[in-house]
Amino acid sequence: MKLFTASYGLIVGNLLGTKTQKINAFSVPTNSPMTEPFRKPKITQLYASPTDEKTLRQEITEKSTIVDRKDEIKYATTIGEGANADGEVVVQDQSENDVDQATPHSATDEADAALRKKVERAIKPRAYPLFIAEKGAIIVQDVIDSAASILNKNDVSYENFGGKDDTIKERIVILGTGWGAAAFLKEIDTTKFDVTIISPRNFFLFTPMLAGASVGTVEYRSITENIRGINPNANYLEGTAVEIDSKSNTVLSQSVVCEGNSCTIEDFTVEYDKLLITVGAQTNTFGIPGVREHCCFLKQVEDARKIRTSIVNCFERANLPTMTEEQCVNVLTFAVIGAGPTGVEFASELRDFIEQDGPKFYPDLLKFVRIKVIEASPTILAPFDKTLQEEAIKQLTRDVMTKDPNVLNLLPEKFKLTELLLNSGVSEVKEDRILLNDGKEIPYGLAVWAAGNGPLPITLQLIDTLKENAMQTDAQAIARGRIATDAWLRVLGAGGDIMSFGDCSCITTGQLPATAQVAGQQGEYLARLLSQGYDMCPVNTLTDLEELALLPPKPDATRPKTFAENIAAFAIQADDIAAPFQFLNLGILAYTGGGSALAQLQVAPAEKARLKGTGKIGFGLWRSVYLSKQISGRNRTLVFIDWVKTKVFGRDITRL
Ligand SMILES: Cc1cc2nc3c(=O)[nH]c(=O)nc-3n(C[C@H](O)[C@H](O)[C@H](O)COP(=O)(O)OP(=O)(O)OC[C@H]3O[C@@H](n4cnc5c(N)ncnc54)[C@H](O)[C@@H]3O)c2cc1C
Repeated sequence: MKLFTASYGLIVGNLLGTKTQKINAFSVPTNSPMTEPFRKPKITQLYASPTDEKTLRQEITEKSTIVDRKDEIKYATTIGEGANADGEVVVQDQSENDVDQATPHSATDEADAALRKKVERAIKPRAYPLFIAEKGAIIVQDVIDSAASILNKNDVSYENFGGKDDTIKERIVILGTGWGAAAFLKEIDTTKFDVTIISPRNFFLFTPMLAGASVGTVEYRSITENIRGINPNANYLEGTAVEIDSKSNTVLSQSVVCEGNSCTIEDFTVEYDKLLITVGAQTNTFGIPGVREHCCFLKQVEDARKIRTSIVNCFERANLPTMTEEQCVNVLTFAVIGAGPTGVEFASELRDFIEQDGPKFYPDLLKFVRIKVIEASPTILAPFDKTLQEEAIKQLTRDVMTKDPNVLNLLPEKFKLTELLLNSGVSEVKEDRILLNDGKEIPYGLAVWAAGNGPLPITLQLIDTLKENAMQTDAQAIARGRIATDAWLRVLGAGGDIMSFGDCSCITTGQLPATAQVAGQQGEYLARLLSQGYDMCPVNTLTDLEELALLPPKPDATRPKTFAENIAAFAIQADDIAAPFQFLNLGILAYTGGGSALAQLQVAPAEKARLKGTGKIGFGLWRSVYLSKQISGRNRTLVFIDWVKTKVFGRDITRL
């Protein structure tokens, strides 16, 4: 870890030394009447040797994503990690983690034993019927609150808009603008908190439709929403967090600042009372040589844009008169590495593009096209039920579907567009070939890497700063490069001021899959807890035990509890602490191409309590869920229009 910090510091130093020569750090408190400079931070200095904006942004991106190769290997996790093959949550056996289970002797020991028992009881999953009743009560309460705020419009306060509110409130800083942050922002009461968001991306991205965007089924702007639109009362600062100082409660971030054509990297520091880290994860290359250099990833809008351009490039290159047949096959081989939901959905969208638009634009090239899905494990779509996995394999490897008989005549007999290579680990990726562990070589035109999650440097930096704390360090055996939190999403060893959720975190007492569903529910949960005035840092002064020093969040005794809170209190048999986060698994969906999809809906925790849908039924569910889950009415409309546009006019293959 020291090595990481040292090399990271070196990179920062080098970058700033060569590109900006000097660090311009300005500190911005996030509240108090002194907040004026923070609201519109003034850049006091510009630097010599300015570089163009794109290069600087690229440099920050690289710096904030590249981790040591050994850390990548050490901390690799798969997308569904934390869930078993059935997508269910893996709950850690508490007895393994218990430090001192000895019979109590003194009064303190007795108090500790009672507290330990209470916490253990609380963090057990609440009985399902009670949990559903609690969720139902929350929904009803939300409906009542929304109706009340519509009826009494004066309650809707925008006085905070643009940071003009001078009242002193607790300062919450959120890192990230993804699923977790968006859900938090929708729910948090900004009349009680001064909320600041720091992220390099000023928009929320609907990741489940990124595969569609990468082949032009939907447009990028249809699946993104400006973060300011999600909560206009929160303040957004464009920047990449590079260092968290949990002792001084500050976050150091970097941003590219331009004046005319002169751009520089600026540093700024923001103070917080509460820090929420929801920076997500990055694609893990498992340290395999050549992956970062030669493969495309599928995490961000830029990735989708790059893939869309590359697909068109491959076709245009294959169409050149100088190409031999073998070269055409090689350049039109699309390798998808990783057959989890992302890999399978991308392969399916690509196949749609080739089947539906290929005959129109490239009829003579179709016979050369191959999609190769490479997967190290013996199966695909690990979080799905076995029957659905088999259905997905059938869909992926089916014969080409096209309405034009002339196109079918151009294809060789027994032509298979998609080939599934299971049990095939990748050992290296070269510029034009993928080397497999079994010695096979696969020439390719475009390789998309969709295998596994890994930590971001900022995540590792925080874990490193907390390394003196045994709780965080020990928990890394489970968290593996994710920020270990307790069941209330408080970072272990950070005293209750720092919380983390989504893909970058791990609840060590009950791991969850890295999905949007989890991140969204966690963001919502935490916003509710804070808005309801729970004290996140109550301290236990009676114990010497580190793991009991931070008590569970405490309710505000002056506020009457909601009906949902009362149900939760009954379920955990304690009304003086907050009920911990509990995930409601609604099920999973995956598009398998050609107007078919898999739907695995969870109506209760048991394996048998699942509704499964495939083919057109699955597709109907998939489309309606994705449409309804869009973050705004604007997105919903745009996505719907894109689907109609694609159906009527096909995808746009111009390379802009
Ligand atoms: C192609 C694809 C398809 C998917 N499909 C599904 C699906 O169908 N269903 C499902 O449940 N899940 C799906 N997922 C997973 C889902 O997207 C993630 O689990 C979810 O995005 C996690 O949310 P998050 O808030 O933790 O992180 P993210 O949504 O990844 O957001 C992280 C945010 O942090 C910002 N950030 C990064 N570094 C920093 C930094 N140093 N400082 C400040 N900000 C930073 C990023 O810019 C981003 O705004 C899919 C993922 C992908 C990539």
